[in-house]
Amino acid sequence: TEEVLRRQDKLSAVGQLAAGVAHEIRNPLTSIRGYAEFLQLDEEEDERSELLAIITEEIERVNDIVEDFMMLAKPKEVQLGTKNIVPMIQHVMQLLDYTARKAKVQVKFDCSLDEVKVNCDEGRLKQVFLNFIKNAIEATPKGGEVNVKCQLEADQVHIFIQDTGVGISKEQLDKIGEPFYTTKESGNGLGLMVSFQIIQSHNGKVLVESEQHKGTTFQVTLPTLSNSA
Ligand code: ADP
Ligand code: MG
Repeated sequence: TEEVLRRQDKLSAVGQLAAGVAHEIRNPLTSIRGYAEFLQLDEEEDERSELLAIITEEIERVNDIVEDFMMLAKPKEVQLGTKNIVPMIQHVMQLLDYTARKAKVQVKFDCSLDEVKVNCDEGRLKQVFLNFIKNAIEATPKGGEVNVKCQLEADQVHIFIQDTGVGISKEQLDKIGEPFYTTKESGNGLGLMVSFQIIQSHNGKVLVESEQHKGTTFQVTLPTLSNSA
C-alpha cells in the first residue's frame, strides 16, 4: 500500500504543465482542422458523416482536457457543504452504467450505511468517484468485477474501489497521477491528477494497492462530520 497523494509536488512545475496542455490540445485540433478541410472538398455522403463523427469526437477530447484543467484552475470556487456521500456514489454508478455494460464489467456497491456526512464540494467529489470507478472499469477485462465499498472508522470514512483488472506495476505506480501519464490509447492522463488534488483539498488521503494481473484497490479516506449514521 502506498500513499499517492504526495504526487502533488509534481504539480508545482506549472510551466511544464502548460506545455503539456498545449501539446495535448494541439493534437486533436490538428486533426479537426485536417478533417474539416477534407469536408470542404466534395466528399461522398458516407464519408462526410464519418469525418463529422471524428471531428465531434476530437472536440469532445479538447473539451475534456479543458474541463479538467478548469477544475484545477478554479480552486476558489470550491463549494463546501454538508453532504451525504452514499447517494453521490450511487448516482455516479448510474452514470457509468452504460460504460460498464459495454465493457461487460459488473460494478457493485456494497455499503450498509445509508448516510455518511462529509463536508465537501459535491460536484468535485462526484468527479473523483467517477474517475476512480471509470478507471477501474477500463482496467478490467470482460467478465470482471468492480466492487465499491465504504467503511466508517472513528471520524473518517474509507471508500474502496476494487477491481479485478490488469493491475499496476511498480514502475507505473510511480507515475500515476502525473499530468498526461496514461497507458491508454485514448486516455489523457488527467483523471488521477485532478482526483488527487480534489481529495487533498478535502483533507483526505488516497492509498493504492495493486497486484499485476490480479487487480487494484484505490482507497479514498475522507473526514466525516460527527453525526454520520
Ligand atoms: P487515463 O484514464 O486518461 O489514462 P488517469 O489519470 O485516470 O488517466 O489514469 C492514469 C493511468 O493510471 C491509467 O492510464 C492507468 O495506466 C493507470 N490506472 C489508473 N487506475 C487504474 C486501475 N484501476 N487499474 C490499473 N491501472 C490504473
Ligand atoms: Mg481515467
